[in-house]
Amino acid sequence: MNVLLVYAHPEPRSLNGSLRDFTVNHLQQAGHAVQVSDLYAMNWKAVLDASDYPEREAGAPFNPSLESKHAFQHGTQAADIAREQEKLRWADTVLLQFPLWWFAMPAILKGWVERVYAYGFAYGVGEHSDTHWGDRYGEGLMKGKRAMLVVTTGGWESHYSPRGVNGPIDDLLFPIHHGILYYPGFDVLPPFVVYRTSRMDEARFAQVREALGQRLDTLGTTAPIPFRQQNGGAYEIPALTLRADLAPDETGFAIHVA
Ligand SMILES: Cc1cc2nc3c(=O)[nH]c(=O)nc-3n(C[C@H](O)[C@H](O)[C@H](O)COP(=O)(O)OP(=O)(O)OC[C@H]3O[C@@H](n4cnc5c(N)ncnc54)[C@H](O)[C@@H]3O)c2cc1C
Repeated sequence: MNVLLVYAHPEPRSLNGSLRDFTVNHLQQAGHAVQVSDLYAMNWKAVLDASDYPEREAGAPFNPSLESKHAFQHGTQAADIAREQEKLRWADTVLLQFPLWWFAMPAILKGWVERVYAYGFAYGVGEHSDTHWGDRYGEGLMKGKRAMLVVTTGGWESHYSPRGVNGPIDDLLFPIHHGILYYPGFDVLPPFVVYRTSRMDEARFAQVREALGQRLDTLGTTAPIPFRQQNGGAYEIPALTLRADLAPDETGFAIHVA
């Protein structure tokens, strides 16, 4: 497999740094090719702004989507964006690894998504008709590729349980799983989450490594989260609401999982 690890932690000697090193070694020893986008080490530019499009018309109002579409189509994107897109094309499997910061991914990783996911690359793909609303949510350029999150949290597992005060982890990660990964076509594997990181010692770290190793060994076979395909008949088009006979009387993120 070709595995791209997109990694967002500022300190190589952190727990995340150790898990990254373990992941890379483990995958390489199993014969996989691995590329790492270490965003802090790369000094990744986190904000999407007009300077990403150096060839744009000077003084014209900045429209991020249209500028992105134009630059993608004409090969005038910033070089760092184009390089990350090339890595995504190369990868069969993408891992996003990060500490949970304010219930979301660190800003530098969100900025990677915003800038790399160009119009025509990750969105704005495919035809729009009465039966097909673009290639997205199960279709798109990432179709056939797999993705998995590796996330660490300060909070305990119970804090993220179905009745936990932080909200269920599946709900918190839904915008990433469904909105960022499933949208452009990835099959999304259940996440690998390390909770309560302040309680880490050598013994627990060995257990975490073991568990992570098992997930890495089964990247190609683990069943993905069964999100419903947008164009598969489950949703009314163009309202894009779930058909009334599916999960009747239910609402919320969980209805999008078959
Ligand atoms: C801005 C910010 C926002 C946050 N928001 C949230 C939030 O919304 N929800 C939440 O739950 N948490 C939150 N946190 C906590 C955060 O998620 C955790 O601090 C983070 O996940 C821990 O990962 P780390 O790599 O930084 O760990 P580190 O701090 O590097 O390490 C954690 C522990 O692991 C030990 N350790 C490190 N490496 C090893 C090793 N190789 N072997 C054995 N032990 C090791 C360390 O000694 C330490 O005790 C937030 C933190 C910040 C800074």
